[in-house]
Amino acid sequence: MEKSTESQELQELLLKKWENGWILINQDENEKVFDFSNGYKNFLDEGKTERESAKEIIKLAKEKGFISLEKAIEQKQKIEEGQKFYSEYKNSLIALFVIGKKDLTEGMNIIGSHIDAPRLDIKPNPLFEEQELAFFKTHYYGGVKKYQWTTIPLSLHGVVILQNGGKIDIKIGEDNDDPVFYISDLLPHLAKEQMEKKMGEGITGEGLNLIVGSIPYRQEDIKEPIKLNILRLLNEKYGIVEEDFASAELEVVPAYNAKDVGFDRSMIVAHGQDDRICAYTSLQGILNINNPERTAVALMTDKEEVGSQGNTGMKSAFFENMVAELIELTHEIPNNLMVRRAMANSKVLSADVNAGFDPNFPDTHDKRNAAYLGKGVVLTKYTGARGKSGSNDASAEFVGEIRRLFNENGVVWQMGELGKVDKGGGGTIAYILANYGMDVVDCGPALFSMHAPMELASKLDIYMTYKAYKAFYSTLL
Ligand code: MN
Ligand code: MN
Repeated sequence: MEKSTESQELQELLLKKWENGWILINQDENEKVFDFSNGYKNFLDEGKTERESAKEIIKLAKEKGFISLEKAIEQKQKIEEGQKFYSEYKNSLIALFVIGKKDLTEGMNIIGSHIDAPRLDIKPNPLFEEQELAFFKTHYYGGVKKYQWTTIPLSLHGVVILQNGGKIDIKIGEDNDDPVFYISDLLPHLAKEQMEKKMGEGITGEGLNLIVGSIPYRQEDIKEPIKLNILRLLNEKYGIVEEDFASAELEVVPAYNAKDVGFDRSMIVAHGQDDRICAYTSLQGILNINNPERTAVALMTDKEEVGSQGNTGMKSAFFENMVAELIELTHEIPNNLMVRRAMANSKVLSADVNAGFDPNFPDTHDKRNAAYLGKGVVLTKYTGARGKSGSNDASAEFVGEIRRLFNENGVVWQMGELGKVDKGGGGTIAYILANYGMDVVDCGPALFSMHAPMELASKLDIYMTYKAYKAFYSTLL
């Protein structure tokens, strides 16, 4: 008997049990998990594009007392600790700051997520008529499995810039009485050839044409009466003409709202959880801290799914410029070295999703190093593919700091690789910030069906991600 107690004690002491998070939390926290997910679902429904997400983030930040950084810059307002700022760039890149007690040159605690998501974009010359139907041509954005975007109700979101410079906001397919749009697929009876193709080729990019109407304009001698009728309707409602599509950003997303999943309602299915799940949790983290030791920053970037390029992507100068502005407003004699120090001394959680181990596809993960739904927020030491290529491999020291932080703050967390060594891989914005000398580690919840029209996440993980981010902002590492 004594012997078995001894071995039990030894196991307690030495072995790490990566337990299911739901059994690690108490009743009080269990309630918080479910409460938190309600706000999250609402955020997802309100922000189905990067522009809509940015708007929602600014709205929530303003409600919590954040003020415009651009205005402070304009008025050369001296900045003090505890002040809260938002900065929005080109409607789709956001930075939120809570100024810390320590000088900016001592670095910031940054959480960087992205608010763009895989979807279908409308082409610049989209509208055509073919065999009694009108269509929009699309060009997919980010890594999608094309066949997944057929036969589901789709909504249309975005902006159209008119010849006179006016901006028209468009959102069709979200209200209950709105129409939706549709991309067809072949019936199985006639799909023998299609079904023999590789999955990546069964539906082609040029085949992702959105059905937008079928009633012709009632008059003879019109070459394309259905196309004309669609243009007439668009002109009546929005005042747009065909050329206006050239200066438009219209995105096609699933016309579904976020929903609870399971008899126990423990999960959420929704579009664009990669990576609005991290945008929302870091937003709530920064909205709920006051007077941090170091300046806290929530970065919500655009264009991550296409390589972080462009003036709203993480590779742009936006963030560095904003830090330079902050240095300007916090120092008597500012200089460029201060900006470099502020950047290099910063610590970063690159906030993005991981791929959870899915029992339906057990061969893609190393079970011992995979992330699991319901086991908490995931630390991903490295990403990359084929031998960590392209990865920011976080240092043991920094992972050590973060691990200690999580354990000391009751965060349920796990380690997770993106997949088996030779199966492929991916990357986030981690390496871009690491180029400044910052310590960076990937940290976010795991999803099922990442990049599918509708993705699956665990409410426990969502809440633990929030808890992790809030602890990161609140603590001097
Ligand atoms: Mn992502
Ligand atoms: Mn992604």
